[in-house]
Amino acid sequence: PQPPSHPPRAYAAIELDAVRDSVAALVARAGAAATMAVVKADGYGHGMLPCARAALDAGASWLGTAFLEEALALRAAGITVPVLSWLAAPGERLAAGIAADVDLSASAGWALDDLAAAARTAGRAARVHLKIDTGLGRAGATGEDWPGLCDSAAALEADGLIEVVGVWSHFAFADAPGHPTVQAQISRFGDAVDVARKAGLRPQVRHLANSAATLVSPEAHFDMVRPGVSVYGLSPGPEVGPPSAFGLRPAMTLRASTALVKRVPAGTGVSYAHRYRTSAETGLAVVPLGYADGIPRSATNTAEVLVGGRRRRIAGTVCMDQFVVDVGADPVRVGDEVILFGPGDRGEPTADDWARALGTINYEIVTRIGPRVPRVYI
Ligand code: PLP
Repeated sequence: PQPPSHPPRAYAAIELDAVRDSVAALVARAGAAATMAVVKADGYGHGMLPCARAALDAGASWLGTAFLEEALALRAAGITVPVLSWLAAPGERLAAGIAADVDLSASAGWALDDLAAAARTAGRAARVHLKIDTGLGRAGATGEDWPGLCDSAAALEADGLIEVVGVWSHFAFADAPGHPTVQAQISRFGDAVDVARKAGLRPQVRHLANSAATLVSPEAHFDMVRPGVSVYGLSPGPEVGPPSAFGLRPAMTLRASTALVKRVPAGTGVSYAHRYRTSAETGLAVVPLGYADGIPRSATNTAEVLVGGRRRRIAGTVCMDQFVVDVGADPVRVGDEVILFGPGDRGEPTADDWARALGTINYEIVTRIGPRVPRVYI
């Protein structure tokens, strides 16, 4: 579909060809390893289902989500490729996940027991990926608990209640190429796979690499890579390099139309608490996007947008539904386009520029764009 001829007040244009090109670049980097496209958090804010389909078109063969309801939404949409969901809370509807053929992760013996109980309810074995904490210090069994977890899994497998499909882990510093923990985690991961095999497990899918490791650490690819942010054409971090260095193309452009433009004299206080004051007679443009739409309030007097072909800093406090831009003497009119961020090829800021200006990461900039902002697929 084309963008609407009378655009909504604001929308995120998602270029699915950019997702396809970026995934094709990741698949090529992955070489013999399979590619799981991570589509959690509504496809990092880009829309889960259209992006999942685009990623599969471009050669991804697995999908990854954090939460079970995300995986079930993929199944409800008729997507049949393997899906791993890794963050179940106690009491989660695991039987529904198993019945829907969703792979699930376990980092602890109690989680395996829950999966075995759910497998009995579902009447089929749970497909399980055992997670080892190789150094992130988040999910995953500790090195100490790992042999016991593997033994418990082998016993449940022998009972036909689970099938251990994968062994996996996650990096702490993959976006800092050369950081010593990267090699240490790879080596611990290899050791953990050996322990699993000694326990009698035969995991077919060993996976460790996020976007950064997919792009720059081929020794971390194992059987499958698990990129997220780069599926959407974004670089996993400034130290890894710009997206263009890897054939990635940022897919999201966040646009709005000015809702009001007016001339004001020098000395006019702008927006709540007058954190901006005009230094000369000027034009103020009101942009109908605010923190309820995911524009960080910390963008006050900080982030830039493209308006009237020129980059202009946000003037004054970002409000719930709107912010103001000082457009000087430029002939900006009501309804003119404002680009907050995009791939950067029209001179607009990128999500990386916003992240740098606001002291955060591009992941947060795109993921937090809220449900009031329609996604328009182009
Ligand atoms: N694997 C896991 C377990 C994750 O939590 C994430 C995202 O946070 C990813 C893979 C994808 O990471 P990235 O977006 O850095 O590629």
